[in-house]
Amino acid sequence: MTNPLESKSSFIRNSKKPALDTEERDLLARPRFSLRLHMLLVFILFSFLSMAIIIGSVIAINRIQKKLNFVQSSERYLFDIAQARRWEKNYFLYDTNLEDAVQSAGNAKSLLSQSLEKVITVLSAEETATVLKHLDQYIGLLQELTMLEKNNIKNADKKSEIETSLRQHGAEMVKVAAALVTKEQNSINAMLHLIQRIPIYCLAFALLLTFFASRFLSHRLIKPLNLLIESTQRIAKGDFSPVPPLCKYRGEFSAVEMAINQMCNELKSREVAMVESHKLRAIGTLTAGVAHELNNPLNNIMLTAHAMLEDHNDLSEDELLEMINDLINEADRSRSIVRNLLDFARESESVSEPLDLEALVSETIKLTLNQAKVSGAKIETQIQPDLPRIRGDKQQLKQVFLNLILNALDAVEKNGIVKINVKKADSPGFLAVQVEDNGCGIPAHILPNIFDPFFTTKGPGKGTGLGLSVSHGIITMHGGQISIETEKGKYTKFTVTLPFRTVPAVFNKT
Ligand code: ADP
Repeated sequence: MTNPLESKSSFIRNSKKPALDTEERDLLARPRFSLRLHMLLVFILFSFLSMAIIIGSVIAINRIQKKLNFVQSSERYLFDIAQARRWEKNYFLYDTNLEDAVQSAGNAKSLLSQSLEKVITVLSAEETATVLKHLDQYIGLLQELTMLEKNNIKNADKKSEIETSLRQHGAEMVKVAAALVTKEQNSINAMLHLIQRIPIYCLAFALLLTFFASRFLSHRLIKPLNLLIESTQRIAKGDFSPVPPLCKYRGEFSAVEMAINQMCNELKSREVAMVESHKLRAIGTLTAGVAHELNNPLNNIMLTAHAMLEDHNDLSEDELLEMINDLINEADRSRSIVRNLLDFARESESVSEPLDLEALVSETIKLTLNQAKVSGAKIETQIQPDLPRIRGDKQQLKQVFLNLILNALDAVEKNGIVKINVKKADSPGFLAVQVEDNGCGIPAHILPNIFDPFFTTKGPGKGTGLGLSVSHGIITMHGGQISIETEKGKYTKFTVTLPFRTVPAVFNKT
């Protein structure tokens, strides 16, 4: 993520319109996949799942119904076989019911023929063929007995042979028919068992699907929302760089993204204008002081020039030389005062150079001396000797110290004192510039806001609310920090620390 202050600083330096067009183009180039479509997909998935469950249940119930019908037929088949066997036994015991046995066996045969296809699926084709064979042979033997009866043939051996065969085939048929019923009942039980479990499986699957769907949706919703929150917080702190891509696809969020980027663009250009107006206000404040400052050397020049004009014949060459020297010195002083102001007012690219902090602070104080006179305040300076040089942008650092001193002068009443202290900071490798005033102090409730852009407690036309925010950006860019100590109604002390050992990374590029 872009460092907000870095981006703010580069914006201060370049004041260029950000290339949001590219961002917009990128956004529009993304494939469209809206949130609506996401929700629709999840809805379709759930609908398919419900439909699959319903269709599956209907199919399973149908199959069970068919199986039950088949079990009923099988039981009737079993009953017919058992009945035929009972009649068969009657015949051999009492010579009765042979016709009934033939009838029952015939019924069993027709039942078996009707359900043959189904029987093949339950038993194997081989087993079915065996059942049919036994049944046919059983019926054949009964018919043979009927023939013997019809023709009144009394052949005890033949009858006994037929009886043995009948028992054999009959027993086989009953065994297979019972196996058929048991198999089908087992299969129904298995299906019922499965159907009982289907709701549990469906519930587990639905829970799993809900979990993944909610994760998927929250990924698509929560992540961009969090990014939006982060971006708006960043924007609130004054970093107007474009919002990072919220999602891979173009949808509702891209529209929000584009709107925020446009807003950032707008805010950026407004901030540029505000920074300029803040600087202009500072220049306005300083001009009065400079005019006053210029008065003294110009007066001296006038006086010396008049003296030379009037007394040039009486003056010795040495005296004349001394007066000319005075003129040059005073003119030089005037030039340096004007240059100092112009230096501050000039728009320039950021330049990193070795700087003497003492000289830089002294030049800044000079710019504010007259403002101090207007406020009736006294500026006291304390500078530790032999401080190491720092690297930085002279004009930007001047702007920072100027902001702090002017704020201090605004805060003090008549006879107030603004103390400026330049020294080595407590943390090694850093120099500190402290601007302390015994003015109104800053109430605790506004303290967290004073570095926010456009935050001001000063009346209209007096404050822009950009001084501290711009200063903070500049100092951070130089690898330093601004801290503050204050007590309402007593004092405020701003401490700016700047590194003198390391060269800030941002300046390595320049
Ligand atoms: P501006 O000076 O245009 O209001 P700044 O960003 O420089 O904007 O300051 C923001 C606010 O911080 C000021 O309006 C003031 O309320 C408070 N402030 C800054 N410096 C001081 C100070 N030395 N004493 C009291 N309040 C201060």
